[in-house]
Amino acid sequence: MKPIKCKDAAKLLQHARDRRLDFSERVQLKLHLAVCIHCRRYQKQLDILDSAMARYRESLEMPSEKFSKQDE
Ligand SMILES: [Zn+2]
Repeated sequence: MKPIKCKDAAKLLQHARDRRLDFSERVQLKLHLAVCIHCRRYQKQLDILDSAMARYRESLEMPSEKFSKQDE
């Protein structure tokens, strides 16, 4: 199994959000993240982005309920 470059790691990180990576992809990504701080940072940014998006979606799905209670 040959090492992957940052470009490939970034691609895998993005794929991982849409689909399950297969075993060799996961191993390659893990190995790369173990040695590359840049891609670790990138992964963290994607995580933050994802959780921010999840919170945003939740806030859309639960409209004013929280706020209307303050009026009573
Ligand atoms: Zn990298």
